[in-house]
Amino acid sequence: MRGLNFVCFLGLLVSQSGCQTSGVGESGFTQRSQPLLGTYVTVTVVGCDRIASLAAVSEAFEAIRAVDARMSIHRTDSELSKLNAASPTNYTPISAPLFQVLSEAQRISRLTDGAFDVTLRPVVDLWGFVWKRGYKNPDPLMIEDAMSTVGTRFLELESGAVRFAKAGMSIDLGGIAKGYAVDQAIEALRRSGIQNAMVKAGGDLRVIGAPPGKEKWEVQIEDPTKSGERQVVYLRDKALSTSGDYENFFEQAGRRYSHILDPRTGRPATLRGSCTVIAATCQESDALATALLVLGPDRAHSMESTAFQFNLLTQGKTNRWRVVRSESFSAATD
Ligand code: AMP
Ligand code: MG
Repeated sequence: MRGLNFVCFLGLLVSQSGCQTSGVGESGFTQRSQPLLGTYVTVTVVGCDRIASLAAVSEAFEAIRAVDARMSIHRTDSELSKLNAASPTNYTPISAPLFQVLSEAQRISRLTDGAFDVTLRPVVDLWGFVWKRGYKNPDPLMIEDAMSTVGTRFLELESGAVRFAKAGMSIDLGGIAKGYAVDQAIEALRRSGIQNAMVKAGGDLRVIGAPPGKEKWEVQIEDPTKSGERQVVYLRDKALSTSGDYENFFEQAGRRYSHILDPRTGRPATLRGSCTVIAATCQESDALATALLVLGPDRAHSMESTAFQFNLLTQGKTNRWRVVRSESFSAATD
């Protein structure tokens, strides 16, 4: 997962309206941030009972820690790392959360003609993007070799169990697990009776309800153009994720090599810029933002659906910025 870089700045622009009661929690907001998932996670809940809000926030962080413990490839003791080490050729039972995320990853892979591919891990490693050090432009033969184990068709899922159909396969959930963690935090808040909240983990966020006196949460999207004009979107009961080529990259001979890889080539996606997706769950928005940055504007348009909205900000050869978005994305900006 990403490191401590504030890749997608999503500022909170809510005005704080007062609670009926006076004293602690008067503002109506309880907000806490923690370094988790290789980024900063911020949980904001609306509620006048400060003790209940703090308890809910702590449950939300607990849910995020549980996802990290299960799905991080940076922890050797995570369920995912153990699965990768075991590389099971026979069906092996996995936890319900891991099965759910792998199934959703397969669904997004099918939806995007394979542009989203969690089996890319050996290639992500080769370029140095897993540990964000020792970046290199690998020998084409090494890429070809690593690519022989890549393909979601080699990842077989059945009745709560998984099997790797190719020796040497390895899974990386860096493009989806953060979104899943945000979803789990929202579920934890709901279980605690919270109806209005925002959970944000780097470039991935999800909101429920709205701030006091408002109909929607107002969030700003990171501006890779650095023009100072950040796009604002208004959300209620939605998730939003932004992926960008500026998050984790290296440059060589004037060319940028970013951590979002094209599964068709085993090389960094060639599109410059960022992609923001709004969807019902953060798992979905996270994976789709990564995939649409690989596919680019034309393919993104051809996939247009009511299930999600996208906004692609791309930089062409002349360095001019261009915005390509689904019709329905514009509705979120009003
Ligand atoms: P995100 O920041 O959500 O766009 O996710 C990027 C991360 O997902 C990378 O750091 C890799 O770990 C992983 N990744 C890179 N390319 C892909 C891809 N095409 N499909 C799925 N995961 C990817
Ligand atoms: Mg993603």
